[in-house]
Amino acid sequence: MDIEEEIRSLQLDSAEDNNGVSNPEDVKPEEVEVQKPDKMEEDSKDEVCRDSLPVENVPKVKEKEVAATEDVEAEMEINKKRHLNVVFIGHVDAGKSTTGGQILFLSGQVDDRTIQKYEKEAKDKSRESWYMAYIMDTNEEERVKGKTVEVGRAHFETETTRFTILDAPGHKSYVPNMISGASQADIGVLVISARKGEFETGYERGGQTREHVQLAKTLGVSKLLVVVNKMDDPTVNWSKERYDEIEGKMIPFLRSSGYNVKKDVQFLPISGLVGLNLNKRLDKNICPWWNGSCLFEVLDSVQVPLRDPKGPFRMPIIDKFKDMGTVVMGKVESGSICEGDSMVVMPNKVSVKVIGIYCDEDKVRCAGPGENLRVRLSGIEEEDILSGFVLSSVAKPIAAVTEFVSQLQILELLDNAIFTAGYKAVLHIHSVVEECEIVELLQQIDPKTKKPLKKKVLFVKNGAVVVCRVQVNSMICIEKFSDFPQLGRFTLRTEGKTVAVGKVTDLVTSA
Ligand code: GDP
Repeated sequence: MDIEEEIRSLQLDSAEDNNGVSNPEDVKPEEVEVQKPDKMEEDSKDEVCRDSLPVENVPKVKEKEVAATEDVEAEMEINKKRHLNVVFIGHVDAGKSTTGGQILFLSGQVDDRTIQKYEKEAKDKSRESWYMAYIMDTNEEERVKGKTVEVGRAHFETETTRFTILDAPGHKSYVPNMISGASQADIGVLVISARKGEFETGYERGGQTREHVQLAKTLGVSKLLVVVNKMDDPTVNWSKERYDEIEGKMIPFLRSSGYNVKKDVQFLPISGLVGLNLNKRLDKNICPWWNGSCLFEVLDSVQVPLRDPKGPFRMPIIDKFKDMGTVVMGKVESGSICEGDSMVVMPNKVSVKVIGIYCDEDKVRCAGPGENLRVRLSGIEEEDILSGFVLSSVAKPIAAVTEFVSQLQILELLDNAIFTAGYKAVLHIHSVVEECEIVELLQQIDPKTKKPLKKKVLFVKNGAVVVCRVQVNSMICIEKFSDFPQLGRFTLRTEGKTVAVGKVTDLVTSA
């Protein structure tokens, strides 16, 4: 209906997410390999970027010996695979950690002994069924609470792809973490519990299913795999009716959130706990009606937008620490980086030199877009960097602004408040979290015709689409959505609730 149309009118759909590639379905996996710059191909002969350790909650930089010659070939094979970031989203207790843990186990990232250890630990705490989640929720505090607090990271591989799992926590108060996870993700795995009553709770107002989907879309997660989990539960027992009911309710909602359901969304039934329909297709004896693929097959075939390895370098910083210099962490959104490069940290315009690059646990010489990196820099102190800053190319640094023009879709204002000049909220854009104020409403857009309405607009209500000027107190580094979608889409939140989603249409730079 109307709101659906309006959200669509924000054009946060995948056609625009492709950086110029008109139809991502046309891109074959080999072509996706273009991600790697030629230079990297040469460099990767002795130092390559590959995934190794399964879980790395504590960001540590380890120098790794250069691989022995016989390993190099194997490593290069691995490195030829494309790399994608996956974020697990969904309501608390839907089974995100369990499914994530099971995926790691089934892809050989965790050995039997570790599993047995987790199983025993979980048993000792009378939380037997949680042991798979322990693989993801690695810190003690999380285990005690049984909730994933940090965005834990883990790696696994399927036939064609190396994946980094960004496990997003499901609890309501943890949405800001989910945002930082999702802002780096290429694919979202939306975990839904099919268990009686649980799907309903997650889907209700106040549940996280809806909010996570809307945030994921806004943050640029262009492909969504909807896994209907807990199909093994006695209240479900692989029931086709229950599966169809959930799919039937989810499809209109996903559409209204801006997803092209045919092209960008795929549904499949699974059991994260028992490990069914993940790496192997379902046994007909268990589920006679499912003829589709298993999760790994779907992950293998998912096509995501190309990023430009030759574009200006952009890496939003999500964290930093001291370790023989200053180390910054983030995902490369555009361009490539090599050891020895000169870069600039924006918005404070500090010139830095790249003295080390680490991709997961390995030291590499160069890295391209899409990679999650830790970059050791000289020329800057750790105290001088905040998350939200951007490591940027010198020739074309990212702009720093305190004001921008945006097109906003108002979702749901608190207490049905009105949205007008003077409205304050918290802006979340890539890794930036900053208080902002709407300073002027410029134009209201008719959600149906997508054309501007003629009359002057002073305030709008829920569901409106509006073009407005937004101000922040400190300089932030952002881009126009049309130039770099990942750096130009945002959410506005008030009191822990998402009130609007939007895209940057213009930057107001002081001459
Ligand atoms: P999260 O909050 O989404 O990360 O959920 P967890 O992975 O921590 O799982 C919450 C609860 O659901 C735990 O008790 C799990 O054992 C249980 N669970 C998760 N996946 C499944 C499943 O596929 N089948 C059944 N029966 N229970 C599951």
